[in-house]
Parts: sequence; C-alpha cells; structure tokens
Amino acid sequence: MEECLFCSIVNKKVPANIVYEDEQVIAFRDINPQAPVHLLIMPKKHIPTIVDLTSEDKDLIGEIYLVAQKLASQESIAQCGFRIVANCNADAGQAVFHIHFHLLGGRKLGWPPG
Ligand code: 5GP
Ligand code: ZN
Repeated sequence: MEECLFCSIVNKKVPANIVYEDEQVIAFRDINPQAPVHLLIMPKKHIPTIVDLTSEDKDLIGEIYLVAQKLASQESIAQCGFRIVANCNADAGQAVFHIHFHLLGGRKLGWPPG
C-alpha cells in the first residue's frame, strides 16, 4: 500500500521544512505557499479527513490550535492577523488525505475565500 505523503514527512522519509514537532503534532512550511507565512499543522496520527475525527481526537485538535497560536507568534503574525483553514473532501479541494490545518498570514487575506 502506498504511504500517505504527510505520514512520510512525519516519518522523515520525505524532507520538509519542519518548524515545530512534539509527540503528537508536527508543523512544516507549505511547499507552494499562498501567503508570506503558510504553514501546515497536523496530527502525526493518520486521520484522512475532518469527517473521520472522533471524540477521542478532542484533545489532539485542541493541541493543534495551541501550536497554531505559538507559531503565529513565532512568525510575527499573531497581532496583525492570520487564518486557519482545513479543507475537507472534494468541494473544498482537499488534496492530501491526512488532516492538516493551513496557517496563513503575512498579507491581507480576502473574504469570502474562493
Ligand atoms: P489541501 O489542498 O489538501 O488542503 O492542501 C495540501 C497542501 O499540501 C497544499 O497547500 C500543498 O501545497 C501542500 N503540499 C503538497 N505536497 C507537499 C509536500 O511534499 N511538502 C510540503 N511541505 N507541502 C506539500
Ligand atoms: Zn497520513
């Protein structure tokens, strides 16, 4: 079975510019940034989509938001503003089926998103 791309980054089989890592969570720079700051924050555990989350993952998702907050400060976008986006399935254009949260900032972000 072909391994998931983001599991391969977690397992260090595929290189990435990792900016944060702990036992449960990893964050790295998006390879195709859509803003001056574009990080991907995700659980190390393979969960394909937001729809697959269960109540067991409650703390994990909370941790991801705390990591996002820390990284936003580290990247100097906490005060000027940022956006956290999680695409789910086809209509949202999810391309990698291992849940991840985009942390975007460093420019004025349009609303509504495309
Ligand atoms: P999605 O559309 O699934 O929400 O977002 C997937 C994101 O992963 C995209 O923004 C894309 O640029 C990023 N991405 C895809 N492949 C790689 C890779 O090999 N390394 C990194 N760092 N980012 C990737
Ligand atoms: Zn995975």
